This record gives sequence, structure tokens and C-alpha cells, in this order.
Amino acid sequence: EVILEVKQLGKVYKTAKGEVTALKNINFKTHRREFVCVIGPSGCGKSTLIRILAGLEPHTSGDVLLDGKPVTGPGRDRGMVFQGYTLFPWLSVRKNVMFGLEMNNASADEAGKEADMWLELVGLEKFANAYPHELSGGMKQRVAIARALVNQPRILLMDEPFGALDAQSRAKMQTHLLEIWRNVDVTILFITHDLDEAIFLADRILVLKAHPGEVQELIEVPVPRP
Ligand code: ADP
Ligand code: ADP
Repeated sequence: EVILEVKQLGKVYKTAKGEVTALKNINFKTHRREFVCVIGPSGCGKSTLIRILAGLEPHTSGDVLLDGKPVTGPGRDRGMVFQGYTLFPWLSVRKNVMFGLEMNNASADEAGKEADMWLELVGLEKFANAYPHELSGGMKQRVAIARALVNQPRILLMDEPFGALDAQSRAKMQTHLLEIWRNVDVTILFITHDLDEAIFLADRILVLKAHPGEVQELIEVPVPRP
């Protein structure tokens, strides 16, 4: 089952100094429950790609289809986790997760229960009443993951989510994320510039190659397994 289809995607930024081609002729598909990593050097367009998929940036050519429907803006069918902790410091962990939840006719009580269920999934149920500043970096990213999953998105978009963590926390979070993913029916598109991270996490690795001034390529490489 195809979840996301990207066809001949292109992005040109217009700047004061002229046009910058960030993406050109990008094609790929992701399927249900896949874990796909996109890797590539700095400046190759990874963040641009994920912002387009999130609906935060318009593309300038091609198509982005989620469940066969064009992506035109942000939506609940996509969850997002970025590198900087985007938790609200003045809200408790539970309230941070509830903030992402949009339930029709749901009482605050129900929303709280729903949030607690997702906090349990990421192993932080005991921290529901804590505030972000009381948590470690890894724990904050686990809250961000719970908040991104709470609307049961079709795809979870992660842009270098562990990039600000030290090596040890990062390794722990990678293991955590795989555990979470095994328990949730979600496709993950994970951006990283770290090949080791991609090899550890991914079912599929897509390499975005920077070809300044030329046609760009997104190629799939086999995941090496010991
Ligand atoms: P990556 O995430 O792989 O480092 P980016 O998507 O951030 O790559 O950037 C791709 C290219 O687009 C770079 O040449 C960058 O300078 C340019 N770019 C990114 N964002 C903007 C912007 N808002 N305006 C103009 N150019 C941009
Ligand atoms: P990081 O990945 O940022 O290093 P950890 O998950 O290792 O974060 O947690 C940092 C601290 O928080 C550790 O001392 C750990 O004991 C505590 N901690 C993390 N998760 C839990 C949890 N679910 N219950 C109790 N303590 C926890």
C-alpha cells in the first residue's frame, strides 16, 4: 500500500540574489509501515524536502500525494518531529501531548486519557505532570514523538530529530524509536546526515545527491545488514 508518492518534485527559492534550486526531479514512494531514511550532505535539500512534505513550504513543480491526494498544507495525517525541542515550556508533558490532539466533541478528560496512552507508549507515563525543563533531551524528544503520533498520522516526518543529543542519548533514542514504531501503524520518513544512524534504523535508504547546477538525483541504496 503506497502512502506517499513524490513525482518530479522541484523547488526553486526566489531570493534577493536570484533563484536557488533546492530540489529537482525527485521521485520516490513510501509504503505502509516502512521506515525510510533520507540521507545526503548538508545543503542537498533534505530540510526543504521534509518541509514540503509537511505542507510548510510550497513546491514549485511536480506532485506530492498522500494516500493519493495532493498535499496542499499541513494536516493531521502527518506528524512532525524536528531537531529543536518544540515543546511548550509552560505546559505539562500531558498538556503538551494533548495540545496536538484534535478530537471532535472530546472532553478534556478523554483527551487527557488519550495523551496518557501515548505517553505510556513512549515510556513516560510517570512524567505526565512534569514540565519540559525537568526532562532530559532524549525524554523531551519522546514527548515530541508522543505529540506527533497522537492524531494517528499516516506518516511521521522526522528531521534530524536526535541531532542535538550526545552520542549515548542518541543511541538510546534510536532503539526507543524502533520500539515505538513496531507498536504503531505508521510510516516513518527520517532525515539524517548520519549514515550509521540510517543503517541502524531504516528498511530503505534514499540518498539525496547534491549536483550543483545539474540534474539532482535521489537514489535508493541497499541497507547493509550484518
Ligand atoms: P539540507 O537540509 O540538506 O542541508 P536545505 O533544504 O536546507 O538542505 O537547503 C537546500 C538548498 O536550498 C541550499 O542551497 C540552501 O541554501 C537553499 N535554501 C534553503 N532554504 C532556503 C530559503 N528559505 N531561501 C533560499 N534558499 C534556501
Ligand atoms: P537521554 O536519552 O536524554 O539521556 P534518558 O532516557 O537516558 O535520557 O533519561 C535521562 C534520565 O532520566 C535518566 O537518569 C533516567 O533514569 C531518567 N529516566 C528516563 N526515562 C525514565 C522513565 N521512563 N522513568 C524514570 N526515569 C526515567
